[in-house]
Amino acid sequence: MLEVRNLSFSYERPVLNDVSFSLGSGELLAVLGPNGSGKSTLLKLIAGIETPGAGVVSMEGRDVSSLSRREAARAIGYVAQESIVRFPLSVLEFVLQGRFAHGRLLGFESEEDERETIRALELTETVEFAERKITELSGGERQRVMIARAIASRPRLLVLDEPVANLDIAHQVKVFQLVKSLVADEAMTAVVVTHELNLAAEFASLAMLLKQGSLVAFASTAEVMHEDLLRSVFEAELHVDRNPITGAPRITPLIQSAPISARS
Ligand code: ADP
Ligand code: MG
Repeated sequence: MLEVRNLSFSYERPVLNDVSFSLGSGELLAVLGPNGSGKSTLLKLIAGIETPGAGVVSMEGRDVSSLSRREAARAIGYVAQESIVRFPLSVLEFVLQGRFAHGRLLGFESEEDERETIRALELTETVEFAERKITELSGGERQRVMIARAIASRPRLLVLDEPVANLDIAHQVKVFQLVKSLVADEAMTAVVVTHELNLAAEFASLAMLLKQGSLVAFASTAEVMHEDLLRSVFEAELHVDRNPITGAPRITPLIQSAPISARS
């Protein structure tokens, strides 16, 4: 459903180098890698927000950069890493905006728009904020509302950039559970950037590792969550074993016991 072929992109300097992979429908892909490795840029290219310097991103056989804004918005639900909220809309109005891809304007919404909006609020457990101003939510509350807006149009591809970065542990788990159930029950495919390696290990079917703009690994999550691979990509002391309850890979950072002053 998604094919990325020989994708390269530069701002002033190269950010992505010759990245290729393809994703079948019903997969949940975790995009992992250190800060600055090109994760957000990759997501912008997948969502059609940036145009490739070289190579192509195609979804269901069509070049994403050839889609109209409306076509792209209907097919792809994208939540940016940092979302700028300019207008003090209510949460309900804001999530309803996610339906604009279906051609309606605020004030002219159909019953279906309203139904889908309420459903998106319920799924993300944001109904209780519906009447509040989007500008007056905490970072974590807003994060969930952003996801609600992205799923209100029932996109076939969900592209989420660090969706759990501001969330407490219960809501981190809930967001991953929600994405997993959307993928399983609603025939969606999801691409999710996260630094939560353990949640990725539990929930993602596939994982990729990016380092300095290059694709270091792309495989099943169990294969990618390999101690040597993670150590070299993140340049961190990590230990990987199995979660005794779920059996998924468990990633533990190893804390050096030497005092800070004694470290090199
Ligand atoms: P990640 O999401 O993995 O942290 P990004 O894709 O945001 O990484 O950024 C990759 C590289 O591109 C970084 O070196 C970053 O500084 C650079 N970069 C990101 N956005 C811009 C921009 N708008 N203009 C110039 N450089 C950028
Ligand atoms: Mg980023």
